[in-house]
Amino acid sequence: MQWETVIGLEVHVQLATRSKIFSGASTAFGAEPNTQACAVDLGMPGVLPVLNESAVAMAVQFGLAIHADIPEVSVFDRKNYFYPDLPKGYQTSQMYHPIVGAGEVEITLEDGDTKRIRVHHAHLEEDAGKSLHESFSDGMGHAMTGIDLNRAGTPLLEIVSEPDMRSAKEAAAYLKAIHSIVTYLGISDGNMAEGSMRCDVNVSVRPRGQERLGTRAEIKNVNSFRFVERAIAFEVERQIELLEDGAEVVQETRLFDPERDETRSMRTKEEANDYRYFPCPDLLPVVLDDAYVDHLRDNLPELPADKRARFEHELGLSTYDASVLSASRDMAEYFEQVKAVCGDAKQAANWVQGELSGALNREGLSIANSPVSAKQLGELISRVIDDTINGKAAKQVFQALWNGEGDSADAVIETKGLKQVTDSGAIEAMIDQVIAESPGQVAQYRDAEPDKRGKMIGYFVGQVMKASRGTANPQQVNALLKEKLDALC
Ligand code: ADP
Ligand code: MG
Repeated sequence: MQWETVIGLEVHVQLATRSKIFSGASTAFGAEPNTQACAVDLGMPGVLPVLNESAVAMAVQFGLAIHADIPEVSVFDRKNYFYPDLPKGYQTSQMYHPIVGAGEVEITLEDGDTKRIRVHHAHLEEDAGKSLHESFSDGMGHAMTGIDLNRAGTPLLEIVSEPDMRSAKEAAAYLKAIHSIVTYLGISDGNMAEGSMRCDVNVSVRPRGQERLGTRAEIKNVNSFRFVERAIAFEVERQIELLEDGAEVVQETRLFDPERDETRSMRTKEEANDYRYFPCPDLLPVVLDDAYVDHLRDNLPELPADKRARFEHELGLSTYDASVLSASRDMAEYFEQVKAVCGDAKQAANWVQGELSGALNREGLSIANSPVSAKQLGELISRVIDDTINGKAAKQVFQALWNGEGDSADAVIETKGLKQVTDSGAIEAMIDQVIAESPGQVAQYRDAEPDKRGKMIGYFVGQVMKASRGTANPQQVNALLKEKLDALC
């Protein structure tokens, strides 16, 4: 039997507002437990929520970025359940009239193909507090759970996809596309390690060709691109095995355990009516007029898909280069600055993706924290373009800038004496010396078949480059060497 995987994602994005969605308490990360929860977040009697306008603006910006319908009216509902980290006894969310309607997100796959994933809707809601199960005891040896309510009331945008993804790779690409849109818009810091973006992964399988969807499992709270892929891979295999054994997949909520690389059952799936949703009587429906939405639309920044298209069509980059360089806003801005300084898009793309990204990866640094600035890299590339230095010396200059051994490419070239030697007299002198010191290699060269000599010249080029400490012009060295060696044959 051939199986097809079907995936739908519910992505929770923490919005980068300064205060909470219904109160003035701070949303800053990492504060002492319970120092950032006010009476509204705690659900005290006699207090009323007030909707944070920035959260609304951010949600609408996202909707516009994915070309979604923006309904004129949206409504907050109470989702009722009991849990110790939810002191109000309900989560304020949007069930029936979300702020963002249907839209779509374009994803780019590794082979450069693109695919559209439909978004069913996106809604605003508040986060709950956090239960801390470790490091507490009552002093008599009993483990205890602590509750930190700082996160209670933090604004979340939940983005619900249609079940349009067909592989773990597509799901990861979708999550990356969402990450890139929200960080471009600046509506979230997108920091997955701090929980600013996490997703519930709905997975089912069905026999290839079957129309009806299979029964799904929902894997809760997956918080990295890699975990999304691994959780899906495990889950797909588990479900196929069940079905092939003649058993059934139960609709349930599961948890991904990254240490054991498996998903485990958490609870059977709850239904919407278990939550007794009803409109929140404390909050008015949100009414957005056209002028408000138009204003936000007119002020959207250039988005990843547009940037990618521009890099490709205006700057002449390959589809691959364009998509790598536009994936993050920091990367795109860095690249554009390098390009502006050196004037050569292709060279700028090569350096940013090659030498720079390699060094950043090795040191685990993000491009925003690069020790080499975009201006420094742009100037370095200019010196390659105007032949002040050759490619080999350029790498040395880059390394020196990286290590903080000079403020600019020019300064490093000067102090390290890396200026390219193009004076043919000087190059000839070095060649003569290398030839004089290598009688064995010269004899081999002379005895070789003429068509094998091309390869043997490499040894001499290496020696001359070494003698020049990498500064000789390699084209001149090659040409002059060939002349001189052939004259000896
Ligand atoms: P719920 O509200 O119970 O979580 P929804 O119908 O809103 O259920 O769907 C939630 C997510 O699950 C959506 O992203 C949707 O695309 C996805 N989904 C629904 N059915 C399936 C299925 N059979 N297989 C995979 N994903 C599914
Ligand atoms: Mg769900």
